[in-house]
Amino acid sequence: MSGLEDLYREIILDHYRTPRNRGELDPPATRTEGHNPLCGDEITVYLALEGTGDEAIVSDIKISGQGCSISQSSASMMTQAVLGKPIGDVKAVLRRFKAMMGVESADAVDADDDIDLGDLEALQGVVKFPVRIKCAVLGWNTLASALDEAGASATD
Ligand code: ZN
Repeated sequence: MSGLEDLYREIILDHYRTPRNRGELDPPATRTEGHNPLCGDEITVYLALEGTGDEAIVSDIKISGQGCSISQSSASMMTQAVLGKPIGDVKAVLRRFKAMMGVESADAVDADDDIDLGDLEALQGVVKFPVRIKCAVLGWNTLASALDEAGASATD
């Protein structure tokens, strides 16, 4: 088990030290800020969609911000998980990740959807530390707000 935990720690540190899709996007990309006052984490999501409704595709996503390794690495992994994906898949991965974090009922996850969380699996140990769950989901909640703002609500 410790071997797996070491691997997970390495994945988290790798995303923290070398964050993916870091930067900013110009309008008309939406810009949405998220803040976790418990830890001081800040995430800004820049989201560009191509198309409309559930057919829309995440054509580009960038993250800026600062905070602990869990918040920043989770946001980095999130960009990898959603870039180039249709909104329907983005919502499915959002639900699945939040279910893994215990903040959304597993019933909300469609057992038939074939979602591979990839590197995000490395964050499953966070669920043992309730105070860090808010760090892990910050980027995702900010993404959900960005989807709302872009007219592709994450809640329906
Ligand atoms: Zn944090």
